[in-house]
Amino acid sequence: MNKEFDVMILGAGASGMMAAAWLNVHSKLRVGVIEGNDKPAAKLKISGGGKCNITNTRVSTSNFLGDDSFVEAILKQFSKDDLLKWLEDEGLRPVVRKNRYYFCPGSSDEIITILRRKSAQSTFFFSRKIIAVEKKEVFVIRTDRETFTASQVIVATGGISFKSLGASDIGVKIAQQFGHEIKTFQPALVGLTLQPDQFWMKELSGISLKVEITVGDRVLQEDMLFAHRGISGPAVLSASLYWTKGSLSIDFLPGQDIIKLCADQKKQLSSVMRLSKRFSKSFLAVVNLKDKPCNKLSVEEKQQLSQLHHYRFAPSGTFGFTKAEVSKGGVLTSGLDPKSCESRQIEGLYFVGEVADVTGELGGYNFQWAFSSGVAAADNIIKKDH
Ligand SMILES: Cc1cc2nc3c(=O)[nH]c(=O)nc-3n(C[C@H](O)[C@H](O)[C@H](O)COP(=O)(O)OP(=O)(O)OC[C@H]3O[C@@H](n4cnc5c(N)ncnc54)[C@H](O)[C@@H]3O)c2cc1C
Repeated sequence: MNKEFDVMILGAGASGMMAAAWLNVHSKLRVGVIEGNDKPAAKLKISGGGKCNITNTRVSTSNFLGDDSFVEAILKQFSKDDLLKWLEDEGLRPVVRKNRYYFCPGSSDEIITILRRKSAQSTFFFSRKIIAVEKKEVFVIRTDRETFTASQVIVATGGISFKSLGASDIGVKIAQQFGHEIKTFQPALVGLTLQPDQFWMKELSGISLKVEITVGDRVLQEDMLFAHRGISGPAVLSASLYWTKGSLSIDFLPGQDIIKLCADQKKQLSSVMRLSKRFSKSFLAVVNLKDKPCNKLSVEEKQQLSQLHHYRFAPSGTFGFTKAEVSKGGVLTSGLDPKSCESRQIEGLYFVGEVADVTGELGGYNFQWAFSSGVAAADNIIKKDH
């Protein structure tokens, strides 16, 4: 069996499969792919409830946590329009949900099938655990079964959330060993746990509301779900990307003004709030208000009520890596070339996808990042070959 390759890709997830596909289509380079699981794309398969949220109608640097200019340079090389065109040429036309999110029309197998087909010229080594990479004249990649060599290596081993799907920290270990600085991985796109003062939200488990969450200078508008362990749902998951500690603020009635809604109304407060009755009653109790006719509210009571638009509190933590859709942190992009994700200090070594310190909000941004960075690395390798 051939164990010498021009390019060895570590990890057959979203970014690794895209890099392999790109190299196969645009070059004759000998490409190998090493994967710990017995098949590729485990996260793609279960993503988006089995339909894979591929990308988003609006993709900009503001949807990512990471260095803006680095993210922009990589996204520009393989934009969401390039991705959609590529998929369409391969026979997949994603559907748009909620006017924003592109999903596979049938199941995530549709995109996995394309990636497998386009990367079929690569040699795949499944059920191998990557242990270490060394650089001699070429790169030497050690696995728990055999050792490979390659002139160039694309590290596409992802983050550390969802260990059950094969995730490991080998990517950042390789980076550190080659002198790269890393930011410790933290769970992101994950539910948030609560301090005792906010335990009232747990009582509302199962209720979902459209909210606006402000964390630092980011504003996220989407649904929020009250859960048994704390708060979750798309708005909270995206907010968790920007939250590390300290407080955030929730507007439970975005786009409306509760004080205006109350003006001269004889109606009960809880009915003017236009929210679920269970939520309204709990919220009023928390801000020490009785449910009474709007026209009986004092000035102080109106002030209390206006907390509906900026309910501020500090979550106690997150639901952790087992529930986190992604890991934020990873290999600092200051050590990578913004055109290709190639290491600035080690020629021929690339870090793509989630292992790099770029993380997207909920909504297809992480696959877009994985695909764009995979293509950027592959393109650079192809250019060098010409
Ligand atoms: C439940 C869930 C749902 C998600 N839904 C979406 C969504 O709808 N849209 C979206 O944009 N993002 C979604 N994400 C995030 C997205 O899956 C990741 O950001 C993306 O897969 C990252 O791509 P990657 O190539 O960097 O890593 P991965 O796709 O994680 O691939 C890394 C690969 O490396 C392999 N590997 C790791 N360590 C080793 C080792 N030591 N030896 C051998 N192999 C190894 C892994 O087995 C894996 O196959 C979801 C994530 C989860 C967990």
